[in-house]
Amino acid sequence: MTQQDLPALSIADLQLLLRHREVSPREVIDALRARIELVDQEIGAYLSLDMESAANEAEKANVDLPLGGVPIAIKDIVSVIGQPCTCASKILQSYRATYDATVIRKLRAAGAIPFGKTNLDEFAMGSSTENSAAKLTRNPWDLARVPGGSSGGSAAAVAADEAFGALGSDTGGSIRQPAALCGVVGLKPTYGRVSRFGLVAFASSLDQIGPLTKNVRDAAMIMNAIAGHDPQDSTALNEPVPDYTAKLGNDLRGIRLGLPKQYMIEGIDSEVKTAIKTAVKHLNSLGAEIIEVSLPTTEYAIAVYYILATAEASANLARFDGVRYGYRAENPRDMLDLYGRTREEGFGPEVKRRIILSTYVLSSGYYDAYYLRAQKVRELIRRDFAMVFEKVDALISPTSPVPAFKLGERAADPLQMYLADIFTIAANLAGICGISVPCGFAEVDGHRLPIGLQLLGKALDEARVLQIAHAYEQSTDWHKARPPIASTTLE
Ligand code: GLN
Repeated sequence: MTQQDLPALSIADLQLLLRHREVSPREVIDALRARIELVDQEIGAYLSLDMESAANEAEKANVDLPLGGVPIAIKDIVSVIGQPCTCASKILQSYRATYDATVIRKLRAAGAIPFGKTNLDEFAMGSSTENSAAKLTRNPWDLARVPGGSSGGSAAAVAADEAFGALGSDTGGSIRQPAALCGVVGLKPTYGRVSRFGLVAFASSLDQIGPLTKNVRDAAMIMNAIAGHDPQDSTALNEPVPDYTAKLGNDLRGIRLGLPKQYMIEGIDSEVKTAIKTAVKHLNSLGAEIIEVSLPTTEYAIAVYYILATAEASANLARFDGVRYGYRAENPRDMLDLYGRTREEGFGPEVKRRIILSTYVLSSGYYDAYYLRAQKVRELIRRDFAMVFEKVDALISPTSPVPAFKLGERAADPLQMYLADIFTIAANLAGICGISVPCGFAEVDGHRLPIGLQLLGKALDEARVLQIAHAYEQSTDWHKARPPIASTTLE
């Protein structure tokens, strides 16, 4: 194994080499640094790197721990002590985190090394990473296309072998959709399964942190490290954490999979549709029973989400006032001028759009018509899932209706961008878990663009979702395909 080959390894394979002392954590950090120097000029996955501290940590790493010596990339919305936490916003451009998020503390306890912060849509609002105030991230499969979002930097880094695995956050699809568009695995845990202490809040009733990885086993390994109760996050569930790798390798006999009839809507790309149909047949041939189900209120999910998520976001973003954190407007006339201009100058257009939308839906007179009604419909969406999960173990759908779109293609049309989340958002509203695994390619303009299969599971049923995803993955070759940039090596 040469240094050049190391970055292409999965977490599981890397950890084995580390544990057997075939490579040292320091060699791994050096190999990763070289890889990032080689390809990140083109990809743009990282906003900041702290390779010096990572190298120091590597010297002390205990490789006998489950993630001992494994470097993990972190979406730049999760606090890592001493490192920038910009949320890809001008308003936090000079902010450095003063403490570790619980997930970081837990990753460190498992031996992992957080070494760099990945690009995202500003405050995780978007589906293409184009809303980043810092820079663009390009899709490793076609540099003219978006990596998806909002965890686009994390997904692109993993796909381009610039990270062994990464953390993202998912409020309406931001782990699963970029995973699908970049051809990697992305898991959104159940609401409350992973602590959000130290995650900069977007929509608190929807946000979850989860892994983006090269394969399903790696996602399970990260979940083993980060899941669990946390007294510092009152929404973190106090439920036992299973070993998420335990069911990997079990077959699919006896598993019932639901195919929601509402999810094969018009507007789905024909190659996506074909790939999903083929995946369904394949799952069936592996022993799973396929049952058609109905989720009638799902059609309202996007509308409900954009009312509730924006309302919560505007409350969460109220703290950025130029007094306590980050950017501050110069020479304010008075307090109101300070607040107003700091926010005018510090927030980008999408963040402002959401604050304006939420001010509208929360204003007296419209509160009942929009916010309250959206809350009620959210409850109906939740019940739809609860009913369906009495009949099936998991649900199947595309993750995204389309493969990666071109940079700039949808940026000017927020509604088009919002539709990118049509299959992912309902899971956040219902609080359930979901995963995206690679299931094929679309051929577009001479490029192969990855397609993702989404599996949704009941609350706290991550182990089963991982089991199904793993059985699918291991009996197909999709996860082995590498983007063209993967073959970029030092001459
Ligand atoms: N794309 C959705 C939005 O813009 C979801 C984002 C997310 O999950 N963070 O809100």
